[in-house]
Amino acid sequence: MNSAKKNFAYHPLLISLAPIISFYDHNKDIVSFQYLIRPLLISFSLSVLVFVLLNIIIKNHKKSAIIVSIYIVSFFLYSFYSEIFKFVDPLVDYDSLSLVIGLFFWLAILFLVAKSQQNFGSITKYLNIFSLIIIIIPTASLAYYNYQTSKSANLPSLALVEGNNEVNKPDIYYIILDGYGRQDVLKEIYNYDNSEFINWLENKGFFVAEKSSANYTQTYLSMTASLNLNYLDKMQALDPKSKDRKWLRDKLKNNYVYDFLKEKNYTFVSLPSTWTGNYKNIKADLEIKNNFKNNDFEDLLLEATPLSIFLDPEKKVLNYKEKMIFIFDELGKISQMDENTFVYAHLLMPHPPFIFSYNGNLKYEKNCIKGLDGNHYYQNCPGMEKYRQSYVEQLQYTNKKTMETIEYILKNSDKEPIIILQADHGAGSMLDWESLEKTNLKERFSILNAYYTPEETKNSLSDDITPVNSFRIIFNSVFGTNFEILENKNYFSTWNKPYELIDITNKL
Ligand SMILES: [Zn+2]
Repeated sequence: MNSAKKNFAYHPLLISLAPIISFYDHNKDIVSFQYLIRPLLISFSLSVLVFVLLNIIIKNHKKSAIIVSIYIVSFFLYSFYSEIFKFVDPLVDYDSLSLVIGLFFWLAILFLVAKSQQNFGSITKYLNIFSLIIIIIPTASLAYYNYQTSKSANLPSLALVEGNNEVNKPDIYYIILDGYGRQDVLKEIYNYDNSEFINWLENKGFFVAEKSSANYTQTYLSMTASLNLNYLDKMQALDPKSKDRKWLRDKLKNNYVYDFLKEKNYTFVSLPSTWTGNYKNIKADLEIKNNFKNNDFEDLLLEATPLSIFLDPEKKVLNYKEKMIFIFDELGKISQMDENTFVYAHLLMPHPPFIFSYNGNLKYEKNCIKGLDGNHYYQNCPGMEKYRQSYVEQLQYTNKKTMETIEYILKNSDKEPIIILQADHGAGSMLDWESLEKTNLKERFSILNAYYTPEETKNSLSDDITPVNSFRIIFNSVFGTNFEILENKNYFSTWNKPYELIDITNKL
C-alpha cells in the first residue's frame, strides 16, 4: 500500500477549526451556538484554499500542510505576541511591528519547509494526532456543558393564566435603555439635572417611579427575571458556584411574557440589538433585520488576529451608531402596523461604549470602544471623571432619541399603546464586578422606570416598583389576571458567580 496515502496530512483542516471552537468554549455562557457557524466555515474554506494553492506550487502535500498549520496557529496567536511588544514598550506602534515580524516569519517558514530535504512523515503523524487532541478537548467540553445544562432541573414555570380575552388589546413597547440611572442619583453622583426629560415624560402622561431599583445588577439576570415575572431562584434551583448563563439565555428567549401575549394573539416583533442576548429571537413572528456585517462574537474573534488592524475604530463606531439609530427608527414604525404588537427593544445606551456627544455627533476615545462597564471599563478607558462626563453626554442624546421615538409612536398609534421605558440596572462608574464592598450599590441599582399606561393601571404602580412586577401589574389591570405582586427585592452577585445572590434590599 502507498504509505503516502496512509499518512495523509489532515491536520490543517482540524487546526483551522480548533481556535474558533476553543474561543467559543471560553465564551459559551454568554454567546449562542449560532455565532459559531460562519467563522468556522470561513476559517475552514480559507485554510483549504491556501492548502490547495501551496500544494500546486510546492507539489508536496505534507510540506504544504505543515506550512498552513503554522500559519493558522500564528494567525490566531497574533494578539498574544502583539501584546508582548506592547508590554515591552507601549509607545511603539506595535500593530505594524507585529505585522511586519509576522510576515517575515511566514516567509521564513515557507522558504525553510519548501526547501527542506526531509520527508516530514513522522512530523505529519504527530501533527495529525495533535490536531485531533486540540479539537476533541474544547468539543468535549462543549458537549459536557450542554449535557449538564440540559439536565439541570427547572422549577415549574408559571402556568399560562386565562385572563380576559375580550379586552381592547394595546400595543406594548418594552424599551430597555441599558444602564440608565435614576434622576436623584444622576444629580447626586453625576451632577446632572435630568428633570427636563423626566418632566417631558410626565407631561406626556408617563408615570415615573421615583424610587425604582433593579432586582439584579447584571443585564442577563435582570432581563430574564423581568420577562418571566419572577425572581431567578423561584424559576430554577440555582447553583451558587455555577457560571453557566445558558439557561438564562434560554429562559430569556422562551420567556413568559412572549408566551402569555402569544396566547392573546399578539404579534411579537423582534428588533436587532448589539446585545447578544436579544439577537435573532426564534420566537419572533416578525424579525426586523438590519444588514449587520458582524456580530460581537466575530468582532472579538477578529480582534485576536492580524485582521484586527483592518478593524477601523471609526468604522466600528459608525456601524454601532447606525445600529442604535436603526432600532429607534424601526421602533417608531411599528406603531403603524395593524396587528396587536409586542416589541422588546434593547438599546445599549447610555451604557458604554460612549460614542455620542449630547447632540449625536460621534465623540469617543479610540481605544475605548469595547462596551465594558464598571472596573472592566477602566482596563482600557480613562478614569472616573471622564466616565461620568461621557455618560452624561450619551444620556442626553439617548433622551433626545427617546423623546422623538415616543412622540412618533404616540402620534401614529390608532389606539393608546402601553410603553415601558426601563433600565436593566443603573450606571457603573463605581461598580466592581467582583466586589460588593467596592461597588456603589445605590448607583448600580437605582434605575429609570417609567410607564405609559391606561389610568387604571397607573393606580397600581408605586414609586418603589421593581421590574419583576412590571408585567404582573400591567397584565392584571389590562387582561384581568390575578398575579400576586411580589415583594421588591434587590440582589447583588459578581460576574464570576452570577448565582451567588446576596440580598442587599436593606442596604439601598
Ligand atoms: Zn445592562
